[in-house]
Amino acid sequence: MSISPTDILNSVSDSIFSVLYPQTCVLCGLAVNSRADGIVCNDCWAKAKIFSGFETFCLKCGAFLSDTEPVFDTFCGRCDEHFYDRARAVGVYRGAMAASILHIKRTPHLSSRLARWLEIACRDSFDEPADVIIPVPLSRRRLKERGFNQAAVIGRHLSRRMSIPMDEHSLARKVHTAVHRAGMDMKAREASVKNAFEVTRPKLVRDKNILLVDDILTSGSTASYCAKALKKSGAARVNVLTLGRAV
Ligand SMILES: [Zn+2]
Ligand SMILES: [Zn+2]
Repeated sequence: MSISPTDILNSVSDSIFSVLYPQTCVLCGLAVNSRADGIVCNDCWAKAKIFSGFETFCLKCGAFLSDTEPVFDTFCGRCDEHFYDRARAVGVYRGAMAASILHIKRTPHLSSRLARWLEIACRDSFDEPADVIIPVPLSRRRLKERGFNQAAVIGRHLSRRMSIPMDEHSLARKVHTAVHRAGMDMKAREASVKNAFEVTRPKLVRDKNILLVDDILTSGSTASYCAKALKKSGAARVNVLTLGRAV
């Protein structure tokens, strides 16, 4: 294997990084040796479940069903009523992925490892390229509390790398809802996001193939009600891409 000047530069900058900004893995406490890994070490990333595309997913919502390749189209049966067309994720929401997603809710930065996987998932998951990327919006109150929208951080990265424009303003969350808690069942989650979204600039979504992005997909009801609002305003298609997928 030949070593390129870029490899040498990366390894020099990683050495400087580990001296100047020593980062310990938030999961195991060992050193993180590469900036690309973010807040989790290489060994903990190795244990994460990142989808390769050869698993069996629900064709519509992307629920992970098994590690074997599908022989026929498979559906989970729980997403029939959802309004989006297809949802996919980079990997399972646990371990390194869960820690990294919690981190981007506090720091508006995507590690290059996650960024690269996100680009691959975006390219490989959908049949047709999107016209516009729309991040799942936060309520004005939440945006003020947090200072940024983590879904927009993800969307902005994809927009730059895939050369797809991002629209942060045409979809709004008009209802402020309490933070979803882990114990919330599907009914409670659904009630908290039903009718929470509105399209403020319908002309900009009409007939568009939209890629809705968020950090995590849990029950799918948030993405579904966003898609409902977008389709009511004439969106042709709404696909969903998230970093994590709760199982
Ligand atoms: Zn670790
Ligand atoms: Zn499904």
